[in-house]
Amino acid sequence: MNTLSFSGVKPGGTIGIIGGGQLGRMLAMAAARLGLKTCIYNDEANAPAFQVTPLQLAAPYDDRAMLTGFAEICDVITFEFENLPAESLAYLASLKPLRPGVRALETLQDRITEKQFVASLGLRVAPFTGVSNEEEARAAFAKIGSGIIKTRRFGYDGKGQARVTSADEAARAMASFKAAPCIYEGFVDFAFEASVVAARGADGSFAAYDSPENIHENHILRRSIVPGRLTKAQSDEAKAMAKTIADALDYVGVLAVELFVGKDGALLVNEIAPRVHNSGHWTIEACACSQFEQHIRAVAGWPLGDSTRHADAVMENIIGAEADAWESLARSGALHLYGKREARLGRKMGHITRLKPRSGGA
Ligand code: AMP
Repeated sequence: MNTLSFSGVKPGGTIGIIGGGQLGRMLAMAAARLGLKTCIYNDEANAPAFQVTPLQLAAPYDDRAMLTGFAEICDVITFEFENLPAESLAYLASLKPLRPGVRALETLQDRITEKQFVASLGLRVAPFTGVSNEEEARAAFAKIGSGIIKTRRFGYDGKGQARVTSADEAARAMASFKAAPCIYEGFVDFAFEASVVAARGADGSFAAYDSPENIHENHILRRSIVPGRLTKAQSDEAKAMAKTIADALDYVGVLAVELFVGKDGALLVNEIAPRVHNSGHWTIEACACSQFEQHIRAVAGWPLGDSTRHADAVMENIIGAEADAWESLARSGALHLYGKREARLGRKMGHITRLKPRSGGA
């Protein structure tokens, strides 16, 4: 099967998922419900997703022979993790349909091309500039003021980031990143953070979930609350922003747009994740079709499901040793544990979603 003859994956077909973390695990479970098989490709043997799928490959992400074998097994390929070598994805895309495509990944993998793309759509972002040495970091501070220096690529959960409030701090942070190409972003004095999770189907159809308020602790998502403090108008605006982004990328699958909600009510785009997202986990219980099922439907070329929220929800991450309290957690909500053996500091071990009847908020 090649891209031109691809018309969708029927029940019994196989979806390839690159990345075997909790997102791959929940995607595999959603696919199974629809009668679809998944083959998970992960670069380490002990992947949480391996526990829930019969087809699995453990190999480096640039192993051509293994990638070739993987493509042979799969009808369509997707990923749950964006820090992948673009060459490997381009190679896979030459063998089987890759959804979302290489263009979306390349645009969003680099924080500068991502911000330039978002700004080109007329959406708001924090002031930013590229920096690659201490002198440029000092100049960026002089131009933009207090900010955050982030590595352009391969950062997550606050890794590869430093907050700076003086030119000296900017220079020191740059030195600590050992001259990795970075972005200097102006510090946004936001009221709170939010996100929007949405899907675009292979036929251009679109479905967005209500926009949750997100609370971070130590740069890691602690909780997503829906409805949060967003107004209905803001939630609708967030959905429209996600549609503009997805259409411009000719995107197929679920994406998440992380937002800063300004004190003036304006929505700024922080970053875009080309995949299902932690702030959308509540959709498993609170919507007829979860973000995981929605992604599987989109990449398999199926009609999108109903993203209407039928309950209010609070999703809380279970981080590190908090998972030791699984028994009491199991009494207090819809508990998800990811099957990770070691509860390392800051590691997402599971999450719990608590529902209430829908209140009618945004
Ligand atoms: P990121 O990895 O870009 O999503 O950043 C992680 C977290 O750092 C965000 O969720 C914010 O809490 C904070 N942060 C990132 N960029 C900025 C910014 N330009 N201004 C203020 N806070 C930020």
